Amino acid sequence: MIIDAHAHLAQSKRRIEELVAELRALGMEASIQGGVGPEDWDRQLELARLEPRLIRPVLGLHPWWVLEHTESQCREALADLEQRLSGGLSSGVRPVALGELGLDYFRDETRDASGLEKEVFEAQLQIAVRAGLPVVLHVVHAHEAALQILGQASRSPEGGGGFRGLVHAFSGSYEVARQYLALGLKLSIGPGIAQPGRFKQLKAALPRLSPSDWVLESDGEGPELFRAARAAAVLVGRSADEVLEQSGEGVRAVFQL
Ligand SMILES: [Zn+2]
Repeated sequence: MIIDAHAHLAQSKRRIEELVAELRALGMEASIQGGVGPEDWDRQLELARLEPRLIRPVLGLHPWWVLEHTESQCREALADLEQRLSGGLSSGVRPVALGELGLDYFRDETRDASGLEKEVFEAQLQIAVRAGLPVVLHVVHAHEAALQILGQASRSPEGGGGFRGLVHAFSGSYEVARQYLALGLKLSIGPGIAQPGRFKQLKAALPRLSPSDWVLESDGEGPELFRAARAAAVLVGRSADEVLEQSGEGVRAVFQL
């Protein structure tokens, strides 16, 4: 069972027939998407209508999208998102999660001076809880702030003590990993782990984690998933097939496929 935990097929310039043929040739059973903003959601839903078992939509406002839009545009998009996730879709295709949502302080730690990114993150967590959906988190150079928001949300009466979902493209330390796991989340490992000399904290953490704590993603169109699997397999002393199988089971459990 091969499942890509995080892909961006809606961002591809290639024809859908070509993408699907490639995924089938790779033995891909399902590809979980990462949402960016309303235009990307429309494209995902269009693709999912054509290939509903293979392409699984995930709708959310990516932190980069939030950065590029005004407060009122964000509010409008949040209302649109809630409507689409609460059964307002006419297409009959159901999103499997809310995401990407989170915080990205990579380029500039002070860039969220207005607090809009945090506000949209919190609002999306509430929408996910109301819709009963898992979350796909995007957190870059902002684990402390994100964990604080997640912890608070999980302790709210609706929060239920934790979340179902993934921390996509995780590259943090063992200690940071433990905090996400304690909230009920799994870590999603991308092809970055295959780069020599990079992701040192993650490379040290992976062998200390349980195989059921993490899954694998391409963060692209699909083929990159196998690069991530080979690199992760070497680190944990197992075969690429074994880690792909384990990852597929994990993804299934998170998104209730
Ligand atoms: Zn992504």
